Amino acid sequence: MKLDQMVRNVYPNLMPYTCSLADLPVEEMKQALGRDQVYKLSFNENPLGPSPKAIEAMQKSLQQLNLYPSSAGEAVLNKIAAKEGVRPENVILSNGADEMIILVAQTFLEPDDEAIIPEICFVQYLASTHLMGATPVFSPMKEDLGIDLEGALQKITEKTKVIFLCNPNNPTGTAIPEEDLKAFIARVPENVLVVIDEAYHEFADGDGYASSVELVKDYANVFVIRTFSKIYSLAAARIGYGIGQAALVDAVNHVRPPFNVNSIAQAGALASLDDAEHVAASRQSNRIGKELLCKTLDALGLPYLKSQTNFVCVDTKRDGKEVFDRLAERGFIVRTLAGYGLKSSLRISIGRPEEMEAFVQAFKEVMQN
Ligand SMILES: *Cc1c(COP(=O)(O)O)cnc(C)c1O
Repeated sequence: MKLDQMVRNVYPNLMPYTCSLADLPVEEMKQALGRDQVYKLSFNENPLGPSPKAIEAMQKSLQQLNLYPSSAGEAVLNKIAAKEGVRPENVILSNGADEMIILVAQTFLEPDDEAIIPEICFVQYLASTHLMGATPVFSPMKEDLGIDLEGALQKITEKTKVIFLCNPNNPTGTAIPEEDLKAFIARVPENVLVVIDEAYHEFADGDGYASSVELVKDYANVFVIRTFSKIYSLAAARIGYGIGQAALVDAVNHVRPPFNVNSIAQAGALASLDDAEHVAASRQSNRIGKELLCKTLDALGLPYLKSQTNFVCVDTKRDGKEVFDRLAERGFIVRTLAGYGLKSSLRISIGRPEEMEAFVQAFKEVMQN
């Protein structure tokens, strides 16, 4: 069997998910480092864990594991629709936001189409573009590492089918100013889909950020992606959703597998949406941890980007990998950004306040030696 002659043409562009230290589950990190305690600050997870109400609902759902889940997830769609001020037919569920990115790519991207992707952005847009055999076109970042919308507009050609944006952006943590985004959407041709990944929407506060769900009402070519993995803390359950005009959602539903979101995840999402207190507590914990980290960075004189998320992108002014290794020796796993050309920068997820107390001690030790 000649596998290399059998796989699709796009195969050389596809990569298995890497499992370097920063990508491991925390138990495997402990093993790899030979430590009892490891602080996983590499995945932007909610350190508080899911809402107790969600855990209870998920446990209850186990008793019906013999039954197929609701295909569309009507109950969850209805609840999201009510919360976001849209109709259920404007919402579609996916197996995490990651799957939604793939579903959008499968719905719209043909080989020969182009997808515009900001240079410093979440990596799955690139992977899904490659999966479909379409051509990724990178748009530049602004000098302050914000997404350059003017730069993205200039990359539009007759072949452009999709523009991927992430707001607030991962891994920079910064938001696109509301007015800029509005003006941008108004200038994008209506035959180009603008996908706006709002994985960190619930953490954002102020500084001009606004969700693009409002824009969905006026623009048939805007599709917003959200996830339950971040503030709702259901990363392992795998559930996300998209919001767009009914025709757009219907198009994506043509490629969605029938039972893509399992019933445990649906039960957890439903209960999570009802627990506003847990969301508020998560935001509060994040705010405290982030302030502590930023104060330390200020004291060390290290530049960092103003974050609207649950992570901070900092310029260590040293080799990022070296700082990463020295933090890892102390049991703190963060993320290097050399893959984006940011060789001296790290992305640090916000842990619980007491975890951040421990982190800043270790970080000071590393940076002052
Ligand atoms: C974490 C993340 C996702 C993936 O979310 P899942 O729902 O867990 O697949 C998507 N987009 C961005 C920007 C993220 O940071």
